[in-house]
Amino acid sequence: MVQMHAAIQTAGQAIPSRPDWRLSLAAVARVSRQRGRQGTSAHLAIISLDGDEQRGVELQLSERGTTMKYDVEADWQLLNTCNYRCPYCFFDNDTLGEKIKPAASNEAWQHAFDRSGLTWLLHMTGGEPSVYPDFVDLCARLTGRHLLSINSNMTYKSWQDFARRISPRRVSFINAGFHLAERERKNGLKPYLDNVETLREAGFQIMSSLVATPEALARFEEAIDLLAPIGMFPIPKVLRGHHEGKSYPGAYTSTERRAFRHYNEAARAFYAPALKDRDERPTVDMFGDDRMLHGTPNYDGLRCGAGRLFFKIEPNGDVFRCGNSRAYGNLLDGTFWREDRAEPCDSVHCYYFCEKYSERPPLSRRLHRLARTTVREVLR
Ligand code: SF4
Ligand code: SF4
Repeated sequence: MVQMHAAIQTAGQAIPSRPDWRLSLAAVARVSRQRGRQGTSAHLAIISLDGDEQRGVELQLSERGTTMKYDVEADWQLLNTCNYRCPYCFFDNDTLGEKIKPAASNEAWQHAFDRSGLTWLLHMTGGEPSVYPDFVDLCARLTGRHLLSINSNMTYKSWQDFARRISPRRVSFINAGFHLAERERKNGLKPYLDNVETLREAGFQIMSSLVATPEALARFEEAIDLLAPIGMFPIPKVLRGHHEGKSYPGAYTSTERRAFRHYNEAARAFYAPALKDRDERPTVDMFGDDRMLHGTPNYDGLRCGAGRLFFKIEPNGDVFRCGNSRAYGNLLDGTFWREDRAEPCDSVHCYYFCEKYSERPPLSRRLHRLARTTVREVLR
């Protein structure tokens, strides 16, 4: 069901809304709505409301969060640098402390994506994307033709500017990493709350996530209380990799798994109203992380759209299928290319992208995984 929101202007001046307009406008929209190039808005020159003709009135309709049309998605590692030093980060401290050296100007990045002739959904990640020079300008340039989703720890003031300049209709979602312990160490709670609240109020689909270390799971109730004043709820995100000498998610205890499932279920319920009008799930779909508590599925050999519908982009513009198994040229020098069809998986796991772009495993493989998971659960 499409939700309509109307803004009415005459010669640039807003007309005060009336309670009955929404229904009237929806009726007009059904008759006269035209899809724009981006598929999310329409403009009507003259409308009639309740029998009163309103000449010269322009009606603009938007469909919030329902249609984000794109040809190809990319996990774009914009930079390695970050202001935080989370102990579970994939990058070591030297990498996180790298001096930022953009491979191209913002204009050149825009040109690189535009000349591909495709509409991209660019998942900007890092490092911390918002420390990238002129980050908001880059987003403004890209959202003219493309769509964004972004991972961020939400500490920088530039998010206030982002909320003013970028249309929520061009941003699929923002994953606002809470990183509770590191945030406390850096005195970063207030900036996070201010930025997330501003973005949420501006209409962005924003999710607060919390990497589920054993310490974070033990403090989850506290995290819930901290986010409640801005109308947010933490989503537990499965810890992957080494932490405190143990390998996760295999090292979770059964108590921690139970806690994870409990909070994951609560997060699903909390975000359900915001997700119901979307025409697809957010790609970073942490609401299904409780299925990954015993390890990630095996995608080896399954047909996957990565290489045609999905790519990984490095800070220098090099394009790969997902891990670095197959190269697809470089966006900045114009050598990017893509496959004609889905190919079997031959790469390392790319978390949420595997789930989105690979075919469903055969029943025998799913049963094998279920049996293995059950045995592990019983043995713990
Ligand atoms: S905020 Fe993200 S990129 Fe930065 S140190 Fe933490 S996990 Fe790594
Ligand atoms: S690792 Fe994941 S995204 Fe890459 S080819 Fe395999 S299933 Fe597809």
